[in-house]
Amino acid sequence: AVGVLVRTAVEGVVSALEVALDGGPQVPLSAVEVLDEVERRRVLSEWAGVAAAEAEVSTLPELFEAQVVRSPQAPAVVSGGVELSYAELDARANRLARLLVGRGVGPESVVAVALERGVESVVALLAVVKAGGAYLPVDPGYPVERIAFMLADAVPVAVVTSRAVAGVIPGEVPAVVLDEPSVVEELAGLSGAPLGVGVLPSHPAYVIYTSGSTGRPKGVVVEHRSVAGLLGWAGVEFGGGDFARVLVSTSFNFDVSVFELFGPLVSGGCVEVVKDLLALADPDAVVGEVSLVSGVPSAFAQVVAGGSLAVEPGVVVLAGEALTADTVAGIRAVLPGVRVANIYGPTEATVYATAWFAGEDEVGAVVPIGRPVAGTRAFVLDGRLRPVPVGVAGELYLAGSGLARGYLGRAGLSAERFVASPYGTGERLYRTGDVVRWNARGEVEYLGRADEQVKIRGFRIEPGEVQSVIAAHSGVAQAA
Ligand code: AMP
Ligand code: MG
Repeated sequence: AVGVLVRTAVEGVVSALEVALDGGPQVPLSAVEVLDEVERRRVLSEWAGVAAAEAEVSTLPELFEAQVVRSPQAPAVVSGGVELSYAELDARANRLARLLVGRGVGPESVVAVALERGVESVVALLAVVKAGGAYLPVDPGYPVERIAFMLADAVPVAVVTSRAVAGVIPGEVPAVVLDEPSVVEELAGLSGAPLGVGVLPSHPAYVIYTSGSTGRPKGVVVEHRSVAGLLGWAGVEFGGGDFARVLVSTSFNFDVSVFELFGPLVSGGCVEVVKDLLALADPDAVVGEVSLVSGVPSAFAQVVAGGSLAVEPGVVVLAGEALTADTVAGIRAVLPGVRVANIYGPTEATVYATAWFAGEDEVGAVVPIGRPVAGTRAFVLDGRLRPVPVGVAGELYLAGSGLARGYLGRAGLSAERFVASPYGTGERLYRTGDVVRWNARGEVEYLGRADEQVKIRGFRIEPGEVQSVIAAHSGVAQAA
């Protein structure tokens, strides 16, 4: 079998060389089309994936409210000894949404949510989108300078917070302090019935900040249609029982939390919100029979290194950084028979863009990031936006309903990364900066970055941002 693969690869090189020579000495090499029709069609349409049907377009409140109707009494969220059913969660979110509408929140406005992890934070995120706003997650554990930057940049209409964490919020942002007696009283007087705010699929659902190479973090604006597309795929992939009880361990500042929270909440599952992934190994931290856990491979590797877990999820979803065969083996050692997924996606393409599921057998040296998820299309292109042959490294470009609107208030930067596609009418491509290749099975393999961006335990960091901050110090002349 190896002989056949090698022969096929060699034949490919030889035929590309023939094509190149056929062009004659006047033709620049860059103008030579090395893919034949069959391979071109394979990488640009068969493997690239299909565009989403318009019928799937929806919004987060609409999807959640449909589930409330289907299973009002089922448990929806559990945390810190509190459990809410779908109907209770919905009513509480509706009350807070009414209060927010009264403070001027509506479509195209941003509302920061700075709360400790727990039931209340889930109520708040839902309330913001029900009021028509886009939520800006503010993890109170982030450095105060970073929090201040995000709030100054996104200019939220309000911040939903609590007395315990309000101290990290700069005074100029109007605050709704949930446990202040006046707010408690106001909420109690509001109706828990649905609001009927006209939220459109093209309205933003959230704004999530990520590191910026020029020294300024950038807010990625993601619309409801993109979230709905992601959740549609997730429901098909995990809705059959995997979402029954999901451990929500990811900071809301990362978009993986969108998958963890809303995947189950639009398909009848229950989310258990815990502090972080270390809860996996702590019998006192988790109360339910967890069916699915997701997290960053390096964080997982650390937790499973302890040798045993307090939970037995049937599915482990790994995302956010390259997955190694060693990490997969380590997880299988403590969770025999577990289904392992390697999922890839930048914030700019709404959580997940490609997915790969490990079979029963041993995992090879390179763990693929797999095939495009429903509604997403993936292209491996060279510097002139032309497809590269199978097995050849190129940059990954993404298209489809998952593409974010762009960076908040940064039209120039958005235009640099979201470019016109030569392969679809009026479509945009997001330039990921990830270097990948197609393998012979039509799966994408991740090879590294085309720029300097790094991931440290899932944190996306542009060294340029660090560099520019250090260089701004009065005692520093230059930084590298
Ligand atoms: P973020 O926007 O924080 O999700 O970071 C996106 C970046 O993380 C991607 O552009 C990749 O460089 C990296 N990444 C995410 N998931 C994976 C994965 N499964 N394998 C390798 N790299 C990944
Ligand atoms: Mg991601």
